[in-house]
This record gives sequence, C-alpha cells and structure tokens, in this order.
Amino acid sequence: MEEKPLQSVFFHFRFKFIAITTIAFLLYVILSGSRELSEFSKSSEFQLMGPFLIFVMVLYFIFRKFPIKCPNCYKTIPTKKNWHCPECGKMQGKDRYLMDKCLHCKQIPTISVCDHCKEKFRL
Ligand SMILES: [Zn+2]
Ligand SMILES: [Zn+2]
Repeated sequence: MEEKPLQSVFFHFRFKFIAITTIAFLLYVILSGSRELSEFSKSSEFQLMGPFLIFVMVLYFIFRKFPIKCPNCYKTIPTKKNWHCPECGKMQGKDRYLMDKCLHCKQIPTISVCDHCKEKFRL
C-alpha cells in the first residue's frame, strides 16, 4: 500500500502570511517616506503604522485561537490543547497552542493528530 502524503491545514501559513504582510508594509512605509525625519513622522504612511500594527496584533490573536479543521473528517479541532510532540514523542502536560515550541525538545510541531478520527495531518 502506498503512503499518502499528509494533508495540510495551513496553520503555520497563517503566521507566515502575517509576517510577510507586516514586512511588506514596513518596507513600503520606509521606501515611500521622506528622507527628513521630521517630515517623515508627519506623513500619512507613518501615521498608518500604529493602526496597522494594532490590526496585525488582533489578527495574530484571532489566527492563534481560530480552530483548525481536520482535512480527513472535517471536524474542528482546537488550537490549544495538551498536544503530543511528533519530534520527541512526549505530551506537553498542559494546554498549549500548536504554534508554541515543545516544552521538552523546543521544536515547533509540524504534524498533529485529529482528536476525532486520529488521522495525522501537517500544520
Ligand atoms: Zn479528523
Ligand atoms: Zn518535543
């Protein structure tokens, strides 16, 4: 029997998306800004930075809590639970986010198991 490639839920992709958007915005502000620092702080791009960074932080907290959907049984799975580390095989011992590093081996989990159907998927 052939091993099927694991399906992905694009959980880590959410945070890459935020990081890329933030870097792109900051680059835009820096490159479009005036060379004079006093003028730069008055520019509309600079004034947008505050609201934008708040927006990014809100997005980050929503993305972190927003449950993932199992690609096999389509049931929702919480992103905060006592997860089993695929690297060192240990349980976390308390509820932690799937984007956190393992308490034991400091690796970020790339694979998780569905609570309902016990199928593996990539994060
Ligand atoms: Zn499932
Ligand atoms: Zn571990």
